Amino acid sequence: MADLDVMRLRRDFPILERRVHDAPLVYLDSAASTQKPTAVLDALQDFYRGHYANVHRGAYTLSAEATDRFEAARARVGRFINAPTDRSVVFVRNATEGINLVAHAWGRHELVAGDEIVVTVAEHHANLVPWHLLAAERKVVIRGVPLGGDGRVDLDAMAATIGPRTRMVATFHVSNVLGVVNDLARIAAMAHAVGALLLVDGAQAVAHLPVDVQALGADAYVFSGHKVGAPTGIGVLWAREELLSSWPPFMGGGEMIRTVTVESSTYADVPARFEAGTPAIAEAVGLHAALDYLDGVGLDAIWAHDRELGRYALERLQALDGITLYGPEGDDRGGIVPFNVDGVHPHDVASALDAAGIAVRAGHHCAQPLMSALGVQSTARASFWLHTTHGEIDRLVEELVVVRDFFAVNA
Ligand code: PLP
Repeated sequence: MADLDVMRLRRDFPILERRVHDAPLVYLDSAASTQKPTAVLDALQDFYRGHYANVHRGAYTLSAEATDRFEAARARVGRFINAPTDRSVVFVRNATEGINLVAHAWGRHELVAGDEIVVTVAEHHANLVPWHLLAAERKVVIRGVPLGGDGRVDLDAMAATIGPRTRMVATFHVSNVLGVVNDLARIAAMAHAVGALLLVDGAQAVAHLPVDVQALGADAYVFSGHKVGAPTGIGVLWAREELLSSWPPFMGGGEMIRTVTVESSTYADVPARFEAGTPAIAEAVGLHAALDYLDGVGLDAIWAHDRELGRYALERLQALDGITLYGPEGDDRGGIVPFNVDGVHPHDVASALDAAGIAVRAGHHCAQPLMSALGVQSTARASFWLHTTHGEIDRLVEELVVVRDFFAVNA
């Protein structure tokens, strides 16, 4: 596998030419959202300029072209994640909506009081709050699995938590804070041994490593377009077709019906059943272009690059006094690095870095239970992608030394 030609890839991202506060932009917030390559921007322009119309309804040429492109995007997603059939690929707004869809369509339909959903302490709120809403309505019990001493999900604790009432294990593929890959093969085996489903939150995975939903043993998998180089407003829920087909609709409206009378409706087959209303058409076309782009670069090479940058950042930051790092080390960790400058609020760290053109995130990263487990309120977080260079990490380290020393003198 060839190394990424990062300097060439950087030319694919026009925004990286920007200066911020008179310094070159160093964008280290790809875990929050990715920048968009020209291929995606061009695909949007081309679609809006030449082919745009509403889908699935019109007998005219433009609508047929738009429909073909929308459905081609679905097929592209299916190939990208190795879905057995495109019918099991549902377009949603984002990973959050995908999980809510499962909580409503599956959870409200299938669960009874006392049933259990197992999550981990390291989930994004998007994979906690929908279950809380369901729990309040259905008297379902949410059970959380802690981290082990090595900073990864404690799989022994998970084995002890999963039991005869477990109906779903819902967990992340790659943690948005710790950067670590969850051991989904073992988790799938544990879930399936008791007849529970495995829902995987792939928001931080799909743009970073090859994803094969069948090989993972997932029953459902969600991700957001805006984290894979595609536009906002488009996301994907994949679920095994026989499951999806057994769930009632989540939202009602146009496009998802078979017949409607004033009194009642019957519903379309999947995936249309779960796509009420006009979908994010151009955004799906943009997602298609983004997935083509990622395949062109190569997911294995991106993952190797991510891991190398993560390792390099940890090595450089560990060498500094006054910086606390979080998360495990190892080959199962990608390019997400949470840290704190001792005695300095992470928001102050992020603001000071911004003044030097460096974009990092600060806060609880929508992972308050994990923050509690780590014993902090919040952290700063640098996150990398295929366009990130070692030189940018060096810039981060240099500026962190300045920030640390400034606050030490002015404390
Ligand atoms: N899950 C994880 C692991 C995430 O990192 C995020 C976003 O940061 C989400 C879910 C939610 O993604 P979205 O806001 O695009 O729905």
